[in-house]
Amino acid sequence: MVDYGIKYWSNDDFIIEDGVVKVNHKNKPSLLEIVEEIREKGYKGPLLIRFPHLIYKQITQLFCSFENAIKEYDYKGHFKAVFPLKVNQMPNFVLPLVECSQNLCYGLEAGSKSELIVAMSYTNLSSPITVNGFKDKEMISLGFIAAKMGHDITLTIEGLNELLGIIEVAKEMGEPCPKIGLRIRLHSTGTGVWGKSGGINAKFGLTSTELLEAIRLLEDSKLLAQFSMIHFHIGSQISDISPLKKAIREVGNIYAELRKMGASNLTCVNIGGGLAVEYTQHEDSNNRNYTLSEFSGDVVFSLKEIARNKKEREPNIFIESGRYVSANHAVLITPVLELFSHEYDEKALRLKEKNPQLIAEMLDLYQSITEKNAIEYLHDSLDHMESLLTLFDLGYIDLTDRSNAEVLVHLIIKKIIKLLKYKNHNEIIRIQEQVQERYLLNCSFFQSLPDYWGLAQNFPVMPLDRLNRRPTRSASLWDITCDSDGEIAFDAKKPLFLHDVDVTKEEYFLGFFLVGAYQEVLGMRHNLFTHPTEFSVVFDDDLNKGYEITNLLEAQNVLDVLDDLDYDTKEIERILKQRIEDAKIDEDDKKELLGQLYVMLSENGYLRTITKNGE
Ligand SMILES: *Cc1c(COP(=O)(O)O)cnc(C)c1O
Repeated sequence: MVDYGIKYWSNDDFIIEDGVVKVNHKNKPSLLEIVEEIREKGYKGPLLIRFPHLIYKQITQLFCSFENAIKEYDYKGHFKAVFPLKVNQMPNFVLPLVECSQNLCYGLEAGSKSELIVAMSYTNLSSPITVNGFKDKEMISLGFIAAKMGHDITLTIEGLNELLGIIEVAKEMGEPCPKIGLRIRLHSTGTGVWGKSGGINAKFGLTSTELLEAIRLLEDSKLLAQFSMIHFHIGSQISDISPLKKAIREVGNIYAELRKMGASNLTCVNIGGGLAVEYTQHEDSNNRNYTLSEFSGDVVFSLKEIARNKKEREPNIFIESGRYVSANHAVLITPVLELFSHEYDEKALRLKEKNPQLIAEMLDLYQSITEKNAIEYLHDSLDHMESLLTLFDLGYIDLTDRSNAEVLVHLIIKKIIKLLKYKNHNEIIRIQEQVQERYLLNCSFFQSLPDYWGLAQNFPVMPLDRLNRRPTRSASLWDITCDSDGEIAFDAKKPLFLHDVDVTKEEYFLGFFLVGAYQEVLGMRHNLFTHPTEFSVVFDDDLNKGYEITNLLEAQNVLDVLDDLDYDTKEIERILKQRIEDAKIDEDDKKELLGQLYVMLSENGYLRTITKNGE
């Protein structure tokens, strides 16, 4: 039995019991029963399942952890947090997040006008809004509108021009003004693929010279009282905590210096996001070297020390963790459509009366493999295969012979894997490195795991069932886009093994976990595959099953996708209809074809069925 590293990445959100993956909450339903329930209703493509209880779990962990640290160190500042909308703007994520955090000082962070509108509409008036990113006068005015509505909103200034914008808008729109934050350009940086947000060449933030100028401008325009926060963000998925500690020391000292210069309402240090998520499925390849309680302890302790040394009040701590709060709430389920080697069973052999010598030898190898000679025979058959391919290129054997060679190699590999299944795992791994099974998944990696494509970020993946059976096939995963980048290749350093299943007879599903951060809006419609059908699983003790399926949103249908690209879909329908009417075929056939076509236009573009052998 293999546990797919669930103890490393799942944080007890999911567990393996009785050979299946279960949601580790309340009555612990299996993912498979949830998936089967929804598939019975006709949703056959990939599925994105959301678990709102996991959003709540992450937020409460974050608050508890910081509140514990604050108690432990007898820290005088408060803890507040916002969710950065860029990490997940989907309504079925954001609305439950806002609802479950009503009693906490938890708000939203916006980086664009559209995100700000979401924040202004859904943030509780008592919770904070922060606004980062580049802003024009219009966006600044939007911030003033939010302040007038009664929102606790802070506009973070990324450059001096933005500050001039605020000063101008303040003259036009008057009180109440939003609070003002200044983003600091640190000389310390983060690490890892995302660590570009800090450093002297960072895209955002004010240098010390600009900070001094900003304070002067605020003073001159009588806005210094609005200045209440300094901010930094050293990048996402901080793998090592030491750069963060360094950044906090840098920012803590800037905080104290600015207060001494008269910024007496400066009370908040916003440490941005970056709290990492553990994605690894393998021992010794951890993505982070700290726990949440070390993280919060370090932040609180460092700020306390600086405040004491500089004799300033301990600042309120603000955090903008996005990945940590959202990653675990969503699971992508993909049906396996095909195992490519399954075309190769004995029935596929087309042996002749007289076969080429090498084919005859391969057949002999196949029939006489034993546990003992397995590895030797494997190498022989791979050599034979090479030679046969050369013979084909030279014109000495025909296509039937070539096909027989392919089939025999696959049969030999399968037989060996079966023979060695319980005996010699290292040998199996050696074979598997040479020959992998390719699993075709009904999904698009470009749409659902864009960070795999763009940043080589691995997401934990495992089958939903058969977990009490040892998986024997080394797997590479293919999506259904016609792009060769739509492949998660087998990696001997992080091997993935899956089960040998006949998907024409039994269903097999893979789950990709921790896909709730960044993937959804970053996902692209390559080949015009859309966001998969999604729904939420909400636990409720009063229900028989213990949970209900809500917020079902079906994947967009073909016409809606084309409409999004600004095709005239009425015209497309008209043309298609006309072309069928003009076709030189039976009138009855025309009706039939038209009917079929309309059904397909109203469905999404993922595959619904595969052709089953003999059915
Ligand atoms: C992206 C971003 C975040 C969120 O970072 P995570 O790594 O997802 O926690 C927070 N603050 C700012 C300014 C950001 O740009």
